[in-house]
Amino acid sequence: MMDAEQAFDAVIVGGGPAGASSAALLAQKGRNVVVLEKDIFPRYHIGESMIPFCWYPLERIGMNEKLKDAGFIKKFSVQFVSQDAGASVPFYFSRHMDHPSAQTWQVERSSFDKMMLCHACESGATIKKGVAAKEFITEAGVTKGVRARMPDGSMQDFLAPVTIDATGRDGLACSRNRWRIPDKKLKKIAIWSYYKGAKRDAGLDEGATTVAYVDDKNWFWWIPLQNDRVSVGVVGDKDYLFSDGRDLEQILDREIKKNAWIKDHVSTGKRVEPVQATGDYSYRSEYCAADGLVLTGDAFSFLDPVFSSGLFLALYSGVLAADAVDEALSVGDFGAARFTEYGEKFRGGLEAMRKLVYAFYDPNFSFGAVIKKHPHLRGDLTDCLIGNVEKDFDALFEAVSEFADIPEPVPHGNPHIAPAPA
Ligand SMILES: Cc1cc2nc3c(=O)[nH]c(=O)nc-3n(C[C@H](O)[C@H](O)[C@H](O)COP(=O)(O)OP(=O)(O)OC[C@H]3O[C@@H](n4cnc5c(N)ncnc54)[C@H](O)[C@@H]3O)c2cc1C
Repeated sequence: MMDAEQAFDAVIVGGGPAGASSAALLAQKGRNVVVLEKDIFPRYHIGESMIPFCWYPLERIGMNEKLKDAGFIKKFSVQFVSQDAGASVPFYFSRHMDHPSAQTWQVERSSFDKMMLCHACESGATIKKGVAAKEFITEAGVTKGVRARMPDGSMQDFLAPVTIDATGRDGLACSRNRWRIPDKKLKKIAIWSYYKGAKRDAGLDEGATTVAYVDDKNWFWWIPLQNDRVSVGVVGDKDYLFSDGRDLEQILDREIKKNAWIKDHVSTGKRVEPVQATGDYSYRSEYCAADGLVLTGDAFSFLDPVFSSGLFLALYSGVLAADAVDEALSVGDFGAARFTEYGEKFRGGLEAMRKLVYAFYDPNFSFGAVIKKHPHLRGDLTDCLIGNVEKDFDALFEAVSEFADIPEPVPHGNPHIAPAPA
């Protein structure tokens, strides 16, 4: 028997952008949902730069008005800078579209994620902070909820006909079921820190994301944040970054000196946080769903962050999962097959971004070369970069394949449909 106090329409594990967007939308649809978040917010998280199409899922859950008043740095453009700082061509989103999404934000994740979770709470979701899900509760292979460690150390069951795994790169379902499959070609690591007092560009460019190249296809992100802070990180192959040892500060300093634009911009600043690193870069789960279980955001897949697609994909999949779960609740069917369309849409978005990421790392690829040869595809390329992932990009990737190897779609990631009993 379920304990009535713990019986919900959906249990959502993880209160990051994916979990919070699912929770907000389901609660707004009148569903009784609980979010279990192991940390106490605000908490630090990497991944600060949004892309324009974040606007759409945020609009669906009613967050855009709140973000307008939050004081985050406005992002109007992205630019790609060569190693000698020569080829800086800012791309302004407003030149591509006349829409509110043409301005997006650079967000301190501690503030943004807290706002998102508060919004889910204000929408009617129950939020349990400091509660870490430890295992799935299953009956005859069907997920019925999770067993979680409470802040006082006790264990408690949270039961529902459907559980959304939004645990980010921790990946509860992936780790418990060994579902995580790495994308072997995208084996990069990232090393980063934060600087205060670094140079800011003027006007609309103040909030631009800069992607700056070092030694071929290794690259920096430069993301201006509030309070005169900037997030600066370098991404590259392990062998390249660790070629002179593993001291993270030394590696970051060494790489900064290599790119003239980054070196100049950082010159007036002071590092204000320890240098951090992460590996285990890109992966996808073997399955996007199982009976009574759906995976969203990074819990399903992580993609190299060169095009800042992570927040968008988390929000996009968060609302898609909420729609699929709401439908499942309406018909009382929580079988894995119900989440087939969800998985197809999410994977479609991931594949578009993944092809572009592969192209980016190909030594023969450059945006300029593709657009020079196929100027009519500039709009398609831009659409892909800003997150308009439901568009048909066949013509674009046909053209890109003249310059770079385009990967076949990842074959896994469908729902886990258990064989019918004999
Ligand atoms: C180096 C790097 C740079 C990046 N840069 C960018 C960028 O510029 N722009 C961008 O859009 N994206 C970027 N990303 C990606 C972005 O950070 C993620 O895609 C995004 O945070 C995914 O959101 P999520 O909700 O799926 O997961 P998360 O944001 O990780 O949230 C998951 C939540 O689940 C909680 N949790 C985990 N396990 C449990 C458990 N067992 N029980 C309860 N709670 C649990 C965690 O505490 C966390 O709060 C970057 C990522 C990396 C690694």
